Amino acid sequence: MADLMTATHEAAHGADHGAVQGAMAAPYAGAGSPYRWGMSVDLDRCTGCGACVVACHAENNLPIAGPIDTDEGRSVDWMRVERYWEGHYPEVTAHFVPVMCQHCTNAPCEPVCPVFATYHTPEGLNGMVYNRCIGTQYCQNNDPYNVRFFNWFEAALNFVEPLANQLNPDVTVRSRGVMEKCTFCVHRIREAAADAKAEERLLEDGEITTACAQSCSANVITFGNLLDPHSKVSTAIASARRFRLLEALGTEPVVYYLKGGQA
Ligand code: SF4
Repeated sequence: MADLMTATHEAAHGADHGAVQGAMAAPYAGAGSPYRWGMSVDLDRCTGCGACVVACHAENNLPIAGPIDTDEGRSVDWMRVERYWEGHYPEVTAHFVPVMCQHCTNAPCEPVCPVFATYHTPEGLNGMVYNRCIGTQYCQNNDPYNVRFFNWFEAALNFVEPLANQLNPDVTVRSRGVMEKCTFCVHRIREAAADAKAEERLLEDGEITTACAQSCSANVITFGNLLDPHSKVSTAIASARRFRLLEALGTEPVVYYLKGGQA
Protein backbone atom coordinates (compact mmCIF):
# COMPACT_ATOMS: atom_id res chain seq x y z
CA MET A 1 0.00 0.00 0.00
CA ALA A 2 2.79 2.43 0.94
CA ASP A 3 4.58 1.96 -2.43
CA LEU A 4 1.36 2.34 -4.31
CA MET A 5 0.51 5.51 -2.42
CA THR A 6 3.97 6.98 -3.04
CA ALA A 7 3.71 6.25 -6.76
CA THR A 8 0.29 7.79 -7.08
CA HIS A 9 1.28 10.75 -4.95
CA GLU A 10 4.19 11.54 -7.24
CA ALA A 11 2.03 11.11 -10.30
CA ALA A 12 -0.43 13.63 -8.88
CA HIS A 13 2.32 16.08 -8.02
CA GLY A 14 3.44 16.11 -11.64
CA ALA A 15 -0.05 16.99 -12.88
CA ASP A 16 -1.70 20.35 -13.30
CA HIS A 17 -3.96 20.73 -10.26
CA GLY A 18 -6.62 22.77 -11.94
CA ALA A 19 -6.76 20.29 -14.79
CA VAL A 20 -7.90 17.50 -12.46
CA GLN A 21 -10.92 19.43 -11.28
CA GLY A 22 -11.70 20.32 -14.88
CA ALA A 23 -11.45 16.69 -15.93
CA MET A 24 -13.72 15.61 -13.08
CA ALA A 25 -16.35 18.18 -13.87
CA ALA A 26 -16.31 17.74 -17.65
CA PRO A 27 -18.39 14.54 -18.00
CA TYR A 28 -20.97 16.00 -15.63
CA ALA A 29 -21.25 19.50 -17.00
CA GLY A 30 -24.06 18.34 -19.30
CA ALA A 31 -25.53 15.72 -16.97
CA GLY A 32 -28.27 18.06 -15.83
CA SER A 33 -27.29 18.12 -12.18
CA PRO A 34 -25.63 21.03 -10.42
CA TYR A 35 -23.95 18.56 -8.08
CA ARG A 36 -20.95 16.29 -8.48
CA TRP A 37 -20.26 14.78 -5.09
CA GLY A 38 -16.71 14.12 -3.95
CA MET A 39 -14.57 13.76 -0.87
CA SER A 40 -11.12 14.60 0.42
CA VAL A 41 -9.36 12.57 3.13
CA ASP A 42 -6.38 14.18 4.86
CA LEU A 43 -4.14 11.30 5.90
CA ASP A 44 -1.82 13.56 7.91
CA ARG A 45 -4.68 14.21 10.35
CA CYS A 46 -5.99 10.66 10.72
CA THR A 47 -5.27 9.00 14.09
CA GLY A 48 -6.83 5.67 13.14
CA CYS A 49 -9.42 5.92 15.93
CA GLY A 50 -12.11 4.18 13.88
CA ALA A 51 -14.98 6.52 14.86
CA CYS A 52 -15.81 6.95 11.17
CA VAL A 53 -16.23 3.18 10.74
CA VAL A 54 -18.54 2.95 13.75
CA ALA A 55 -20.58 5.94 12.56
CA CYS A 56 -20.92 4.36 9.12
CA HIS A 57 -22.16 1.12 10.68
CA ALA A 58 -24.76 2.89 12.81
CA GLU A 59 -25.93 5.28 10.09
CA ASN A 60 -26.36 2.71 7.36
CA ASN A 61 -27.85 -0.28 9.24
CA LEU A 62 -24.91 -2.53 8.54
CA PRO A 63 -25.29 -6.16 9.61
CA ILE A 64 -23.28 -7.18 12.64
CA ALA A 65 -20.80 -10.00 12.09
CA GLY A 66 -19.79 -12.27 14.95
CA PRO A 67 -16.51 -14.19 15.26
CA ILE A 68 -17.78 -17.16 13.23
CA ASP A 69 -18.95 -14.90 10.38
CA THR A 70 -15.65 -13.05 10.44
CA ASP A 71 -13.69 -16.31 10.29
CA GLU A 72 -15.69 -17.21 7.18
CA GLY A 73 -14.87 -13.83 5.59
CA ARG A 74 -18.44 -12.60 5.89
CA SER A 75 -18.02 -9.36 7.80
CA VAL A 76 -19.55 -6.24 6.24
CA ASP A 77 -17.84 -2.85 6.54
CA TRP A 78 -18.64 -0.07 4.11
CA MET A 79 -15.41 1.59 5.14
CA ARG A 80 -12.22 0.41 6.79
CA VAL A 81 -9.09 2.06 8.17
CA GLU A 82 -5.95 0.52 6.67
CA ARG A 83 -2.63 0.83 8.44
CA TYR A 84 0.77 1.24 6.86
CA TRP A 85 4.25 1.97 8.11
CA GLU A 86 6.74 4.60 6.99
CA GLY A 87 10.49 4.50 7.75
CA HIS A 88 12.77 1.80 9.05
CA TYR A 89 13.02 0.42 12.55
CA PRO A 90 13.42 2.04 15.04
CA GLU A 91 12.36 5.23 13.20
CA VAL A 92 8.97 3.89 12.18
CA THR A 93 5.75 5.88 11.98
CA ALA A 94 2.29 4.37 11.69
CA HIS A 95 -0.17 5.93 9.24
CA PHE A 96 -3.81 5.23 8.56
CA VAL A 97 -5.88 5.24 5.39
CA PRO A 98 -9.68 5.32 5.66
CA VAL A 99 -10.99 3.50 2.58
CA MET A 100 -14.58 3.63 1.37
CA CYS A 101 -16.23 3.29 -2.06
CA GLN A 102 -14.25 5.60 -4.31
CA HIS A 103 -17.31 6.34 -6.51
CA CYS A 104 -15.10 6.00 -9.58
CA THR A 105 -16.03 7.94 -12.69
CA ASN A 106 -14.91 4.88 -14.69
CA ALA A 107 -16.19 2.35 -12.17
CA PRO A 108 -15.03 -1.19 -13.05
CA CYS A 109 -17.87 -2.68 -10.98
CA GLU A 110 -20.63 -1.16 -13.11
CA PRO A 111 -20.26 -2.73 -16.58
CA VAL A 112 -20.01 -6.28 -15.22
CA CYS A 113 -23.39 -6.23 -13.49
CA PRO A 114 -25.77 -8.33 -15.66
CA VAL A 115 -28.89 -6.60 -14.31
CA PHE A 116 -27.68 -2.97 -14.02
CA ALA A 117 -28.10 -3.06 -10.24
CA THR A 118 -25.08 -0.81 -9.94
CA TYR A 119 -24.96 2.26 -12.13
CA HIS A 120 -23.77 5.87 -12.26
CA THR A 121 -26.08 8.68 -11.24
CA PRO A 122 -26.12 12.14 -12.88
CA GLU A 123 -24.53 13.42 -9.64
CA GLY A 124 -21.57 11.10 -10.14
CA LEU A 125 -22.48 8.60 -7.43
CA ASN A 126 -21.88 4.90 -7.91
CA GLY A 127 -25.47 3.87 -7.15
CA MET A 128 -26.69 0.50 -5.93
CA VAL A 129 -30.26 -0.74 -6.50
CA TYR A 130 -30.72 -3.43 -3.88
CA ASN A 131 -34.01 -4.84 -5.12
CA ARG A 132 -32.54 -5.31 -8.59
CA CYS A 133 -29.42 -7.12 -7.38
CA ILE A 134 -29.34 -10.89 -7.92
CA GLY A 135 -26.12 -11.42 -5.96
CA THR A 136 -23.77 -12.72 -8.64
CA GLN A 137 -20.91 -10.83 -6.95
CA TYR A 138 -19.34 -10.00 -10.34
CA CYS A 139 -19.04 -6.37 -9.18
CA GLN A 140 -17.14 -7.42 -6.08
CA ASN A 141 -14.70 -9.45 -8.18
CA ASN A 142 -14.11 -6.46 -10.45
CA ASP A 143 -13.69 -3.94 -7.64
CA PRO A 144 -9.99 -3.07 -7.19
CA TYR A 145 -10.62 -1.24 -3.90
CA ASN A 146 -12.33 -4.15 -2.15
CA VAL A 147 -15.16 -2.00 -0.84
CA ARG A 148 -18.15 -4.07 -1.98
CA PHE A 149 -19.65 -6.66 0.33
CA PHE A 150 -22.07 -9.51 -0.16
CA ASN A 151 -24.73 -9.57 2.55
CA TRP A 152 -24.89 -13.05 4.08
CA PHE A 153 -27.16 -12.04 6.95
CA GLU A 154 -30.87 -12.59 7.47
CA ALA A 155 -32.02 -9.17 8.68
CA ALA A 156 -34.67 -10.63 10.98
CA LEU A 157 -32.04 -12.77 12.72
CA ASN A 158 -29.34 -10.10 12.73
CA PHE A 159 -31.36 -7.27 14.19
CA VAL A 160 -33.28 -9.07 16.93
CA GLU A 161 -35.19 -7.01 19.49
CA PRO A 162 -34.18 -4.67 21.06
CA LEU A 163 -31.35 -4.18 18.49
CA ALA A 164 -33.91 -3.26 15.84
CA ASN A 165 -34.65 -0.07 17.77
CA GLN A 166 -31.28 1.36 16.77
CA LEU A 167 -31.91 1.03 13.02
CA ASN A 168 -31.91 4.23 10.98
CA PRO A 169 -35.41 4.63 9.51
CA ASP A 170 -34.02 6.62 6.57
CA VAL A 171 -31.96 3.67 5.30
CA THR A 172 -33.12 0.34 3.86
CA VAL A 173 -32.45 -2.74 5.96
CA ARG A 174 -30.89 -5.20 3.54
CA SER A 175 -31.07 -8.94 3.94
CA ARG A 176 -29.10 -11.91 2.63
CA GLY A 177 -28.43 -12.03 -1.09
CA VAL A 178 -27.46 -8.51 -2.17
CA MET A 179 -24.24 -6.59 -2.65
CA GLU A 180 -23.81 -3.39 -0.69
CA LYS A 181 -21.29 -0.61 -0.19
CA CYS A 182 -20.80 3.05 0.77
CA THR A 183 -23.37 5.36 -0.81
CA PHE A 184 -21.86 8.67 0.39
CA CYS A 185 -24.90 8.64 2.74
CA VAL A 186 -27.18 9.21 -0.23
CA HIS A 187 -30.28 9.38 2.01
CA ARG A 188 -28.88 12.55 3.58
CA ILE A 189 -28.20 14.00 0.14
CA ARG A 190 -31.69 13.17 -1.13
CA GLU A 191 -33.47 14.61 1.90
CA ALA A 192 -31.51 17.87 1.91
CA ALA A 193 -31.76 18.25 -1.89
CA ALA A 194 -35.55 17.77 -1.73
CA ASP A 195 -35.84 20.42 1.00
CA ALA A 196 -33.65 22.81 -1.00
CA LYS A 197 -35.70 22.21 -4.14
CA ALA A 198 -38.91 22.98 -2.24
CA GLU A 199 -37.31 26.26 -1.21
CA GLU A 200 -36.25 26.86 -4.85
CA ARG A 201 -32.56 27.03 -4.10
CA LEU A 202 -29.43 24.91 -4.47
CA LEU A 203 -27.75 23.08 -1.62
CA GLU A 204 -25.10 25.19 0.03
CA ASP A 205 -21.61 24.00 0.79
CA GLY A 206 -21.50 22.30 4.20
CA GLU A 207 -25.28 21.85 4.38
CA ILE A 208 -24.87 18.09 4.19
CA THR A 209 -22.07 15.75 5.04
CA THR A 210 -21.56 12.04 5.42
CA ALA A 211 -21.71 10.15 8.73
CA CYS A 212 -17.98 9.38 8.59
CA ALA A 213 -17.05 13.02 8.04
CA GLN A 214 -19.46 14.18 10.74
CA SER A 215 -18.04 11.80 13.33
CA CYS A 216 -14.35 12.51 12.71
CA SER A 217 -13.03 14.71 15.50
CA ALA A 218 -9.82 15.36 13.54
CA ASN A 219 -11.66 16.80 10.51
CA VAL A 220 -9.97 14.31 8.22
CA ILE A 221 -12.87 13.92 5.81
CA THR A 222 -14.43 16.73 3.76
CA PHE A 223 -17.50 16.05 1.63
CA GLY A 224 -19.04 18.37 -0.90
CA ASN A 225 -19.80 19.44 -4.45
CA LEU A 226 -16.87 19.25 -6.90
CA LEU A 227 -18.77 21.42 -9.38
CA ASP A 228 -18.63 24.30 -6.90
CA PRO A 229 -15.11 25.74 -7.27
CA HIS A 230 -15.45 27.45 -3.87
CA SER A 231 -16.60 24.42 -1.89
CA LYS A 232 -14.37 23.16 0.90
CA VAL A 233 -13.72 19.90 -0.92
CA SER A 234 -12.75 21.69 -4.17
CA THR A 235 -10.37 23.89 -2.22
CA ALA A 236 -8.87 20.87 -0.43
CA ILE A 237 -8.19 18.86 -3.58
CA ALA A 238 -6.49 21.82 -5.26
CA SER A 239 -3.57 21.02 -2.94
CA ALA A 240 -0.28 19.62 -4.23
CA ARG A 241 -0.64 16.97 -1.51
CA ARG A 242 -3.47 15.35 -3.49
CA PHE A 243 -3.45 11.80 -4.86
CA ARG A 244 -5.94 9.04 -5.53
CA LEU A 245 -5.74 5.34 -4.73
CA LEU A 246 -4.64 3.08 -7.61
CA GLU A 247 -4.52 6.12 -9.88
CA ALA A 248 -2.75 4.13 -12.63
CA LEU A 249 -5.88 2.01 -13.19
CA GLY A 250 -7.70 4.98 -14.72
CA THR A 251 -10.80 4.48 -12.58
CA GLU A 252 -10.95 8.23 -11.84
CA PRO A 253 -12.18 8.08 -8.22
CA VAL A 254 -13.82 11.14 -6.67
CA VAL A 255 -12.23 10.40 -3.30
CA TYR A 256 -8.99 12.39 -3.06
CA TYR A 257 -6.38 11.71 -0.42
CA LEU A 258 -4.00 14.35 0.94
CA LYS A 259 -0.61 13.42 2.26
CA GLY A 260 2.72 15.02 3.10
CA GLY A 261 4.01 18.62 3.08
CA GLN A 262 2.10 21.86 3.28
CA ALA A 263 -1.25 22.55 1.65
S1 SF4 B 1 -12.66 9.13 12.59
FE1 SF4 B 1 -11.17 10.49 11.55
S2 SF4 B 1 -9.27 10.22 12.72
FE2 SF4 B 1 -10.61 8.48 13.29
S3 SF4 B 1 -10.03 6.83 11.82
FE3 SF4 B 1 -11.76 7.93 10.89
S4 SF4 B 1 -10.82 9.47 9.55
FE4 SF4 B 1 -9.20 8.75 10.98
